[in-house]
Amino acid sequence: MGEAKTLPAAGGGEAVGFGDAVLTIKGLVVKYNTFRGELTALGGVDLNVRRSRIIAIVGESGCGKSTLGLSIIRLLPVPPARVAGGEIHFAGKNLVELPESQMTRLRGTGLSMIFQEPLSSLDPVYTVGDQLAETIRVRDERVGKPSYGPFRVAPAPEESHRTASRLLGARLPRPRASRKYPDEAIKALREVQISDPELVAAKYPHELSGGMAQRVMIATALLEKPSILIADEPTSALDVTTQAQVLELMRELRDEIGASVLFITHDLAVAAQIADEVVVMYAGEIVEHAEAGQLFSNPMHPYTEGLLQSFPRKFKDEEKLKAIPGDVPDLRFPPSGCKFHPRCTYAFDRCRVELPLAKEVSPGHRVACFLRQ
Ligand code: SF4
Repeated sequence: MGEAKTLPAAGGGEAVGFGDAVLTIKGLVVKYNTFRGELTALGGVDLNVRRSRIIAIVGESGCGKSTLGLSIIRLLPVPPARVAGGEIHFAGKNLVELPESQMTRLRGTGLSMIFQEPLSSLDPVYTVGDQLAETIRVRDERVGKPSYGPFRVAPAPEESHRTASRLLGARLPRPRASRKYPDEAIKALREVQISDPELVAAKYPHELSGGMAQRVMIATALLEKPSILIADEPTSALDVTTQAQVLELMRELRDEIGASVLFITHDLAVAAQIADEVVVMYAGEIVEHAEAGQLFSNPMHPYTEGLLQSFPRKFKDEEKLKAIPGDVPDLRFPPSGCKFHPRCTYAFDRCRVELPLAKEVSPGHRVACFLRQ
């Protein structure tokens, strides 16, 4: 019979608090049908998101981070995915039950999402300016406001048009001698530190670098003014300088329009730079949630502890990095009891048969581990 070892004691830190939530998720269960059987991608997730907070969602690949983001904005591939239980409350509505027509209205104005690969989210046959203008038109139409103007004149993208037509093997609408884009679109491009916004507005997506395309996606989010922005690994394809600029833009989104950002990342260094709170996911469950400072200085769950030990923080020879043994489980055949037990150095008998529920161990610090209960 295994004995329970002990982790460092729980301690201090600022409280997270769970009142004042703009988004509340209760017992969310998402399943996928695969050729080799059904798997539970989210196994009963509970989460409160407060206004003007950046919440980093961390964990290894396959832990359910992206599934959680896609579930909130209802962009899961259905089928094979399906929401098998739970509720997502936002703007007085349960998004799980909302008709698609109402959900479409919420996307953009209330909820927005940006992805790791921004070029796949931009339409290759329209210029950046056209796409931003369309965002403004749709946004204003939703609130019954006549849109557009005043306009800016951008240079004619004759060469861009030829290249786009050749690359896509299609005849694109020929640009006029000059293109007009709403002033607001040009302003949004300037706000994301694009120094020549008129010129960029006239470009097609294939002419943008990865960093520039991600900035255009953030400009779109600025125009939509969402209450919640879900950013799925938005900086992983970017160099460190561009990454720092994109993180700064996220902070501005929080501070200037009061948006809450769900920042999905596997990179703890990025989470440490940007997050107000950190949510740690493992095998489709939230195993720890706390204020960022509290979680990084005093991790309470053995999985969080393992993630931090495998993350290079100090450059000393004696500081050896420790990998977490084993792999994330195949969610078609999850382990019994605590899903982390096959990899946990603290596991004891109870862990193998019983699932630990998340409990508040100090104000605002929730942990799902028997060592803390
Ligand atoms: Fe490890 Fe899970 Fe047991 Fe906690 S409950 S000691 S994480 S196996």
